[in-house]
Amino acid sequence: MAWNVFRFCTGLRIVGSVMVLVVLAIVGVSYYAVVIASYGPQLLRPAASFHDIVVSLAVILLFHALLFMLLWCYFSVVLTDPGHVPQSWTPSMAEDPEAEVLPLASTGQPVAGNNSTTFVHSLPNSKVRFCKKCNLFKPPRCHHCSVCGRCVLKMDHHCVWVVNCVGARNYKFFLLFLVYTFLETTLVTLALLPHFIAFFSDVEEDSGSPGKLAAIFIGFVLNLAFALSVLGFLVMHASLVAGNSTTIEAYEKRVPSRWKYDLGRKRNFEQVFGARRSYWLIPLYAEEDMRRTPALHGVDFPCKPDLTEEEL
Ligand SMILES: [Zn+2]
Ligand SMILES: [Zn+2]
Repeated sequence: MAWNVFRFCTGLRIVGSVMVLVVLAIVGVSYYAVVIASYGPQLLRPAASFHDIVVSLAVILLFHALLFMLLWCYFSVVLTDPGHVPQSWTPSMAEDPEAEVLPLASTGQPVAGNNSTTFVHSLPNSKVRFCKKCNLFKPPRCHHCSVCGRCVLKMDHHCVWVVNCVGARNYKFFLLFLVYTFLETTLVTLALLPHFIAFFSDVEEDSGSPGKLAAIFIGFVLNLAFALSVLGFLVMHASLVAGNSTTIEAYEKRVPSRWKYDLGRKRNFEQVFGARRSYWLIPLYAEEDMRRTPALHGVDFPCKPDLTEEEL
């Protein structure tokens, strides 16, 4: 049969890409409302006061600077592989000769190769699992994403807005995208507020064309809604980063106070953002950080040294 079921998955990916267009459309409406419909004309008006010029210039410059950072972070999340399991990766028994191998015959799950028994390797710092779908051992904190159809290193969640999984390699970029989205949408909301109020008032002298008024109205409502929802999301992720856990782990955790990867706020933060301060606000990592911080690669994670075997 010539019919290939995987064509359907390709179709889904194209539908997913529509979200990129939705994001760009929201950016377009906001740009039109702020720069073209309100602050641009205010800046260029012959009778503009000094105050109007300063405010317009500040809004327009800040808007463009935040927009640049927002789009840089956004496309970094969209285009960066969140982290896939290296084909050659296996639980390294050599690191700990005393590590035991426990056959889990009761599960009856077949595994790769010609062995029909599932094994869980109990290493000092992790219990390694196996993904039957990918036919690969899972490093610690790795999860299988059913949308992407593969295992993702330190998977946080699959995000429809970025048409990608958020995992070890792009989590920082995702957080920065949230930060810049919050700042940009707050700026647009505050900048459009006076125009939005004027929209409902009876003052007719400053009213523009119906198209401009519609853009200001839609831009204000959309940006206010995004600012509020992104703020909630940002607060949630700040607490996850501070405690060194992913969204998936936060749902799975049974004893949050004894989380094995929680090494203190500073070290937890560095495992996502790196240690170099000059790189904290941009979607890039310093080479030195990539060398010194194995957690940034998404395979090895340091654990608390004083935990019992059960807590690990
Ligand atoms: Zn998998
Ligand atoms: Zn995914």
